[in-house]
Amino acid sequence: MKEVRTRFAPSPTGYLHIGGFRSALYAWLLARHHGGKFVLRVEDTDQERKVDGAIKYILEGFDWFGIDIDEGPTKAQIAKIDGGDVRDLHWNYNPSNGHSNGGPFGPYIQSLRLYRYQEIADQLVNTGYAFRCDCTPDMLERDREEQKARKEVPGYSGRCRTRNVSKECEHVVRFRMPDAPKIAIDDGIRGHISWETVPLRDPILMKSGGSPTYHLAVVVDDHDMQISHAMRGEEWIPSTPLHVLLYEALGWEMPIFCHLPVVLGADGKKLSKRHGSTSWGSFREEGYLPEALLNFIARIGWSPGEGDEQEIFTREELVAKFSLDRVNPSSGVFDYSKLDWMNGVYLRSLSDEDFSSRITPYLESAGLPLSLEELSPLIPALKERVKTLKETPELLSFLVDDGFTPEIDQMINKKVSPEIAISILQAVRTELAPITGFSEENLHDVFESVAEQLSVKSGAVFLSVRIAVLGKKA
Ligand code: GLU
Repeated sequence: MKEVRTRFAPSPTGYLHIGGFRSALYAWLLARHHGGKFVLRVEDTDQERKVDGAIKYILEGFDWFGIDIDEGPTKAQIAKIDGGDVRDLHWNYNPSNGHSNGGPFGPYIQSLRLYRYQEIADQLVNTGYAFRCDCTPDMLERDREEQKARKEVPGYSGRCRTRNVSKECEHVVRFRMPDAPKIAIDDGIRGHISWETVPLRDPILMKSGGSPTYHLAVVVDDHDMQISHAMRGEEWIPSTPLHVLLYEALGWEMPIFCHLPVVLGADGKKLSKRHGSTSWGSFREEGYLPEALLNFIARIGWSPGEGDEQEIFTREELVAKFSLDRVNPSSGVFDYSKLDWMNGVYLRSLSDEDFSSRITPYLESAGLPLSLEELSPLIPALKERVKTLKETPELLSFLVDDGFTPEIDQMINKKVSPEIAISILQAVRTELAPITGFSEENLHDVFESVAEQLSVKSGAVFLSVRIAVLGKKA
């Protein structure tokens, strides 16, 4: 088998969505599973829509999740094209690979590879698979109007197919689309897909300013970078026939296309901010552990085997078990409550030391800088009670906050009138006064005996005391 080489190829037009991270994760898992290479390629040919810092944001996310890259843009290149300082990020290519461009097939940034797309566009024109077209936007618009008037499907008229437009005038390069191509691929996730017709008439490969369209750039780069599996979102399926035709025209071997389904919210609509957090940064802010989120994302749309119920996977297990044939071709759902559950499982499995170091930043930003000594007796109880790290300051605030307002109304209910609550608290106070050892057992005995004296449930005593002392029920 050829070396497995996968790539993640984001366009820096916005901040990467968690669904996009899943595509990166699957490509990374496939490469790691086969002992291959994972490549990062920046598809920044659309300079107008470029958002500064978008690549840095992805790389910070990779750092946080522990996704390592084998080949990709260098830090200096990123600083130049993305505007941000990425020197502090951990990601670094194996320095022994000795390539100044981030790997043997660099540069891995499309805006630095324009010469290569031009070279291939010229080759396609010279071999007759493409042609130059100097139709102006006005002419194209007029064509479309006329086609509509004749009730034809609007599209490029084919005017320049035989005109041999000179390289010197302003032009685009179009692919000469065959009339009735029969195209098929064996998708790594969806199996056989075939097309009888192609949706585009003589599509543009090179725009007039000399930058390529996605179609030309993706084919050239996947070929040049020796990508074995082109993993990308299913929205690219309609463009695939053109890519297949380009591979054929260039006499290049195709990668295995792997089209991933979209990630949905619980309501069956495409996952968006309406459903909750959608960027890795907001999950971190909310106190999810990167290993839990990684596990969770991997499980959306992938399972280790038929009927296999296992949910919790270490990173090593994911790498060992990941396979394309277990990726579900239909859309997966991002279930936030399952993520909470999974994060809780991961939190409880942390050692006490690890747990305290992870909650420290949350305590600091909430103005609760507790020392390790103060924290450590609390850790076992905290671990059982929180689903995210961010919930910890709220649970500990009673330790430093003297000005809280007890949730008195929570103390009072059908069975506990204000009078009963007062007698509970008075009795507890009287009984506790002589106690010297504040052990769990001693306190328990006091609360039980108060419950008995007053003929109330012991739960009512615990609740009243908690609210009186901590201000809240838990
Ligand atoms: N640059 C494309 C995007 O961000 C990805 C295309 C690909 O993976 O081939 O949507």
